[in-house]
Amino acid sequence: MSVFTHPEFDNHEHISFHRDPETGLSAIIAVHNTSRGPALGGCRMFPYPDENAALTDVLRLAKGMTYKSALANLDLGGGKSVIIGDPREQKTEALLEAMGRFVERLGGLYIAAEDSGTGVPDLKVMGRHTSHVAGVSPGLGFDGKPSTGDPSPATAYGTFKGIQAAVQHRLGRNDPADLEGLSVAVQGIGNVGYRLARHLKEAGAKLWVYDIHQDRMDQALAELDATPATAEDILFLPVDVVAPCAMGAVLNNESIPRLRAPIIAGAANNQLGNASHDHALWKQGILYAPDFVINAGGIIDIHYERIGAEPSVVREHLDGIGQTLAEIFTRSAQGNLPTGEIANQLAEERFNLKTKTGHHSRRTS
Ligand code: NAD
Repeated sequence: MSVFTHPEFDNHEHISFHRDPETGLSAIIAVHNTSRGPALGGCRMFPYPDENAALTDVLRLAKGMTYKSALANLDLGGGKSVIIGDPREQKTEALLEAMGRFVERLGGLYIAAEDSGTGVPDLKVMGRHTSHVAGVSPGLGFDGKPSTGDPSPATAYGTFKGIQAAVQHRLGRNDPADLEGLSVAVQGIGNVGYRLARHLKEAGAKLWVYDIHQDRMDQALAELDATPATAEDILFLPVDVVAPCAMGAVLNNESIPRLRAPIIAGAANNQLGNASHDHALWKQGILYAPDFVINAGGIIDIHYERIGAEPSVVREHLDGIGQTLAEIFTRSAQGNLPTGEIANQLAEERFNLKTKTGHHSRRTS
């Protein structure tokens, strides 16, 4: 397994491998860029088939965090960690404690948060051996209500603000707060999707929903007056907005030609099958809200939880997601370039600028 010639290697500043035979921990931490600050990103536990698959994932995810935090104007860099193993069968307190010791060894270069396969209680166990964990402190959320530290409400609110910006740009609605009669299809009504659907409903939108779990469907149909859709048609309904809020790679060669909505704006990570699909959406006249911009509410929330801030400050920053997207949409229209490409450029400007001015820089490229 080579690292420097790996297709996903992008001058990552630091990659470390860790094995702890006593607990069975096999883990990788990748730090992509710390020019804006320490690398904060989730710790994912997944039964990767081999270490190369784990390396591919962690390199890609760490880079994604650099872009996400830079575009959200946070003084954070990009990093991620992966634990190779099935969280339902192999996750033990001893293994998580070993992971905590591994994170501690990096001395704060990387800060771990929740990701798929790990949750607040797991991060707390890691936190017995390191202070470099985030997203674990209860307090007041951005809306002034008690929060467990779960970033999903902030992610949903940020995604809602992003949808408002997209609707204003693409459909020319003058008042972004008024979504009366807007039709939206939400794929995945979990922690983020359900809350997003509720915001949309409150603003007057009509909802179509689909989730693989019937209890989620039952709740949305009863509480949000939503119309049930199916696995086959949720992405392809003739609605104003499709909001993918479940899994990645849903925008691909098969799905894009069948899309009928003028706007794609949802919280799911890695919605594009590959980078070329950004171009394919744009060519088809679809306004795509780049996922790492619209779903940055979670990282914004975690950032403020670490440093401590009034709910109003967090909310204002979340509102900024709409403004950043509006800027991306305008630049895209002016430059005749896809939105994802513009978002990447804007992010690179932000973290390269910090590198040039010497702030917290360890980047060698
Ligand atoms: P979640 O697990 O709570 O919700 C996902 C929902 O999608 C579940 O209800 C699940 O049943 C459903 N689902 C799974 N496969 C599906 C399918 N094929 N079709 C329809 N529904 C399906 O997760 P979440 O925290 O709500 O995150 C949703 C997405 O947003 C993920 O891609 C996640 O990476 C991304 N995201 C979440 C956050 C956050 O703060 N939670 C932050 C940034 C990005």
